Amino acid sequence: MFEKILIANRGEIALRIQRACRELGIKTVVVHSEADREAKYVRLADESVCIGPAPSRESYLNMPAIISAAEVTDSEAIHPGYGFLSENADFADRVEKSGFVFIGPRPDTIRLMGDKVSAKHAMIEAGVPVVPGSEGALPDDPQEIIRVAREVGYPVIIKAAGGGGGRGMRVVYTEAALLNAVTMTRSEAGAAFNNPEVYMEKFLENPRHIEIQVLADGGRNAVWLGERDCSMQRRHQKVIEEAPAPGVARRLIERIGDRCADACRKMGYRGAGTFEFLYENGEFYFIEMNTRIQVEHPVTELITGIDLVQQQILIAAGEKFTLRQRDIAFKGHAIECRINAEDPFRFVPSPGRITNWHTPGGPGVRIDSHAFNGYFVPPNYDSMIAKVITYGDTRDQALARMRIALSEMVVEGISTNIPLHRELLQDSRFIEGGTSIHYLENKLAQRP
Ligand code: ADP
Repeated sequence: MFEKILIANRGEIALRIQRACRELGIKTVVVHSEADREAKYVRLADESVCIGPAPSRESYLNMPAIISAAEVTDSEAIHPGYGFLSENADFADRVEKSGFVFIGPRPDTIRLMGDKVSAKHAMIEAGVPVVPGSEGALPDDPQEIIRVAREVGYPVIIKAAGGGGGRGMRVVYTEAALLNAVTMTRSEAGAAFNNPEVYMEKFLENPRHIEIQVLADGGRNAVWLGERDCSMQRRHQKVIEEAPAPGVARRLIERIGDRCADACRKMGYRGAGTFEFLYENGEFYFIEMNTRIQVEHPVTELITGIDLVQQQILIAAGEKFTLRQRDIAFKGHAIECRINAEDPFRFVPSPGRITNWHTPGGPGVRIDSHAFNGYFVPPNYDSMIAKVITYGDTRDQALARMRIALSEMVVEGISTNIPLHRELLQDSRFIEGGTSIHYLENKLAQRP
């Protein structure tokens, strides 16, 4: 097992990884920007290294600085968390070439899945169902683009092959708008992701977002750990996640889960990963794979009792993979609310000093957060400051516990989206379960 791991991330996930390391008896090195000097996980770490000024480009995305920090601290492995460099194949490559273990899949797997066109191709080969659309990237020929769109059928969505974080997508309802949309998405994608390639998919009008969690050892062993329903979204960004997905037949989940585990064996996938699907009329359609730990991983941990971050570390260390599909049992229901420092209904970021911070507790309540009383939320990064996760024997119990938790939670000095969550937890359609990915946007549009 490793003696020391470097955590190349910030915020709640830096603390989450640190806790997993502690439990495994591994020392931690935290790298941080000047803006995060006072962070709780920096103070709690065995060692810390400042790697640059506040802007991510100069710190959390600064590969040479992170690798040097690993060298000077004699770290053996690097955990990339989510976001930042976690799905950067070149980073994974440089980490391994510098003699450290990258806690994640092999660089070529990250590269394959990081390009959504090649990822979809790999899924088709592995027998995983995908959203119907263009075969590969769209060509330059306008007539050919028009022909593909007619074949797929409107509405269609134009997506960047290198896209991520809900950016680089455009929905097209009519042929008149098609070519312009392709041109715009191409130029945006070129600027944002350094890859102008775009592809086309049928735009599903009422799907749910359901994803499958996997763990695999890079060889023959792969298991799936159930699904998460992440349909409550705004601007393609998840707001609430839950497991299991309400009202979906277990045999459908088992069938798609087995397909995902098979695909992992075919790819020689190593580590934790997520297959994201849209789900409509009883069918699953693959949209992308995330080759890292995800924000919403705790809901899976609560219903399976398996620590996914520890599993990532054990697999990276080459420990014998002992999980078998038949040993994975699902129990109860878990829900996660992402608490963001932002105006709850206008969604403008609200960085600043937290003057009063009180987190809820009690049975079935888990809080993953790096914030504390007096913590300054820097304006430079993602606005998520906490995840409130509740567990219950039933969905109703998990919902009730979430309502209580949100009513107890106090955050003063900055705005948060807690009022939005409180409202959603009273929403009759959400309580019923099974709302589509467009539900939240439609609901927000109807607000006076
Ligand atoms: P990203 O990598 O940016 O997260 P995804 O491909 O995972 O991009 O898509 C993010 C979200 O965009 C999905 O959860 C869904 O809400 C929406 N979306 C993507 N593809 C489609 C599609 N073909 N039809 C309808 N909505 C889609």
